[in-house]
Amino acid sequence: MTFIIETKQPILEKVYWLNICVERIPLMILAQHTNFAEKINYAGHHLAYVGWYVKGESPLLKMDKKQMLKFVKPEIEKITGKKLKVIDSYLFKGGFAQPIFDKSFVRNKPDFITPVKNFYIANLDMTYPFDRGTNYAVKLGKEVSKFIR
Ligand SMILES: Cc1cc2nc3c(=O)[nH]c(=O)nc-3n(C[C@H](O)[C@H](O)[C@H](O)COP(=O)(O)OP(=O)(O)OC[C@H]3O[C@@H](n4cnc5c(N)ncnc54)[C@H](O)[C@@H]3O)c2cc1C
Repeated sequence: MTFIIETKQPILEKVYWLNICVERIPLMILAQHTNFAEKINYAGHHLAYVGWYVKGESPLLKMDKKQMLKFVKPEIEKITGKKLKVIDSYLFKGGFAQPIFDKSFVRNKPDFITPVKNFYIANLDMTYPFDRGTNYAVKLGKEVSKFIR
């Protein structure tokens, strides 16, 4: 689940990625995206996002954009010690974001080669035994491209 916040000034000035591991701030991560990719790409505005992995029954999943901003704003202000002025915000909720390798996975592990001629698959769940990651995506891409002549 990701909540993007658009602001005129960056929320975090020098930090790109902030893991939050204290119970009194119920956010998991705060990333100042425009400390990584230039704000020129976003109409000169700054983008930061708050992220969580939550259980299906989490009350966060029931919130709309307005409720989420109300929930997040005071938490961010605790971190920065400054009043948060928001231009706009964007809420994204995605289920099944993490492939889980259970005992039977090895037996059913998907393959690059499919029954369809000239149709190959390289997916997020094929990084086994490693967790998904951009580095593994690049590796998979290189491996699957060998089938294409
Ligand atoms: C919740 C989550 C957290 C993650 N966190 C991290 C992390 O912290 N660090 C890390 O390194 N990796 C992380 N990853 C993994 C990383 O995001 C992926 O490994 C990486 O994005 C894969 O890149 P890709 O270009 O192969 O595929 P994608 O980024 O999935 O890009 C595939 C693109 O193809 C498009 N597409 C699909 N089908 C079609 C079609 N038929 N026609 C046209 N376009 C199509 C899709 O819309 C998408 O834009 C995370 C993944 C998830 C889901």
